[in-house]
Amino acid sequence: ARASRPDLTRTRTTCGYCGVGCSLEVLTRDGEITAVLPDLDGPVNRGHACVKGRFAHGFVRSPERLTRPLVRRDGRLEPASWAEALDRVARGLRAAVAEGGPDAVAAISSARATNEENYLVQKFMRVAIGTNNVDNCSRLCHAPSAAGLTASFGLAGGTDSFDDVERADCLLLVGANPVEAHPVVGARLLQRVLRGTRLIAVDPRAVGLARHADVHLRPHPGTNVALFHGLAHVLLAEGLADEEFLRLHAAGLPELTGLLAEYPPDRVAVLTGVPAADVVEAARLYGRAERPAIVYGLGVTEHLHGTDGVRALANLAILRGAVGIGRGYGVNPLRGQNNVQGASDMGALPDSLPGYGKVTDPVATARATEVWGVPVPTRPGLRIPEMFAAARAGRLGALWIIGEDVCATDPDATRVAEALDACPLVVCQELFLSETARRADVVLPAASWLEKDGTFVNFDRRFQRVRPALPLPGEAGTDFAAVHAVAAALGVDLGCVTPADALAECARVAPMFAGLSHARLDREGAIPWPCPDPDRPGEATLYRERFATPDGRARLAAVPYLPPGESPDEDYPLVLVTGRRWAHYNSGSMTRRTDNLRLDAEDRLDLHPSDAVRYAVRDGEPVVVESRHGQATLTARLTDEAAQGQVFCSFHFPSSQVNTVTSGHSDIETSCPEYKVTAVRLKPLRK
Ligand code: SF4
Repeated sequence: ARASRPDLTRTRTTCGYCGVGCSLEVLTRDGEITAVLPDLDGPVNRGHACVKGRFAHGFVRSPERLTRPLVRRDGRLEPASWAEALDRVARGLRAAVAEGGPDAVAAISSARATNEENYLVQKFMRVAIGTNNVDNCSRLCHAPSAAGLTASFGLAGGTDSFDDVERADCLLLVGANPVEAHPVVGARLLQRVLRGTRLIAVDPRAVGLARHADVHLRPHPGTNVALFHGLAHVLLAEGLADEEFLRLHAAGLPELTGLLAEYPPDRVAVLTGVPAADVVEAARLYGRAERPAIVYGLGVTEHLHGTDGVRALANLAILRGAVGIGRGYGVNPLRGQNNVQGASDMGALPDSLPGYGKVTDPVATARATEVWGVPVPTRPGLRIPEMFAAARAGRLGALWIIGEDVCATDPDATRVAEALDACPLVVCQELFLSETARRADVVLPAASWLEKDGTFVNFDRRFQRVRPALPLPGEAGTDFAAVHAVAAALGVDLGCVTPADALAECARVAPMFAGLSHARLDREGAIPWPCPDPDRPGEATLYRERFATPDGRARLAAVPYLPPGESPDEDYPLVLVTGRRWAHYNSGSMTRRTDNLRLDAEDRLDLHPSDAVRYAVRDGEPVVVESRHGQATLTARLTDEAAQGQVFCSFHFPSSQVNTVTSGHSDIETSCPEYKVTAVRLKPLRK
């Protein structure tokens, strides 16, 4: 007789890779994954998943997984008990506060962590330490979206559900390659385009959906604002603006009209490199469509003037009357990481409480103070780059980094490493001994998304449940448990014992989440924010009656075009753009430890064949990429996907040290790094 096998367990959860938020069913037997299946009822994925969510789960059983705390002794990281590690953290935090006050402590929370974990981290910093020095990696990607969309429309999220976007008859896709970075969204959009949706793609590279575009605009990196103004100029000049919408629902038209006079297509062509005729054709397509939608990515935000870029893009939807007030389609960012929207929603930001109430707003702080029982600090805290600067200047006594490999992913990485080395206590919660963890004083073994209980918020603002499918390995703990443990070591009880408690408490602090709870999500599935009422659905489409600005009008922005932080010159004649590839995810700490490594084994440098001739670079051979900040060695890949004068690489392999090359310039408004424009030169290395 066959021996009886343990039963198969099915766990419905949400993918922990990109911000699409695919609903997955994880099949396990005897504590091991047997398969990950896309959920047929998943509200975004509808039975689809990509090579990451479906297959890249082997990392959970990697022999490199951290399963015990590590503590630095005599310069070496060595295994320790949780008691010793927590004691070291608590002593370091107390010493930092004693020496420099609460603002000498800072925390970087995580877009990989659940909402409930992010909520607890920011509560710990504000309640147990007494500082607003808490930030998350949206600082590195979509902080300009939050700032720009709030300024234009009133709230810090995309304006529409993806279902709305799919109903569009014209898509303006800007600075995004969803076929690789958000594959399920990329596939859904491609289906629409193949069935007749008109596509205007704005991307310097000829990749993904851009190859299917009706009009493909390839601006010089860093010239978005000029291009968007050129499109807006044509909308006004050719009578394609919605005058009634503008009269009833918008503010700022006279100022913008004056500015746009300076951006006729001929001048825009000089500034951006996009032919004037293409600017006109794209504007006519967008302007004449019945249901035009804008979808954009990091090619808009990761610039010196990223927030201005978001606002100039929002201008187009406002001029066209294609946002809010019963029309929809709107302006929608593709958020990168699984919960980068949620990390900010939960208040892991130096200037905002859960639900985006400002720390300087007496009403918002009074509400949080009442729920938490202690006064909320009212001075905005440090942003991530400011934390590193403070550490280098000796003003930071402790830095707690949760699930972020800042030494691999942040720009000008050499300076980041200097900051960590200068900080007396660096605590790192990680799955693996990352570049950052190697420099930490205490490393706490963390849980993956397959081992956690809570919720994520995806790119179109939907809360979805995350459920543990696997037991935790060894002594690893969730970020939720680790924050509670550190608080307890300081003698502080943070309350909200379970993740469900944390979301319930968050719902009391933030009116926009008041209708949410784990119980309701278990019953109903995905629920978008804002959701202020437990008896009503959330708002998938924003601004149906009015914009969320004080006077209910959308704001047109008269922001002039200003050049990027670096431009190519004689010494550094090329522009480096970094981004994602299909098989891997961010620093690759998870996907590189799966069979996806067979699909894509290294970071490569894409360059145009004509540039290869000019700089004597051969396909498949190593080439040194050098900027004013550092250098990296990559394997050259000759492709006409790259624009002439530009090179492209991913950042999935920390060993290639790409971010020692990227510049320290960042968005004037939000400090988001200018990953999309670094002036570089090439030196071939002959084999
Ligand atoms: Fe996961 Fe994104 Fe792939 Fe969906 S598209 S399976 S959310 S990585």
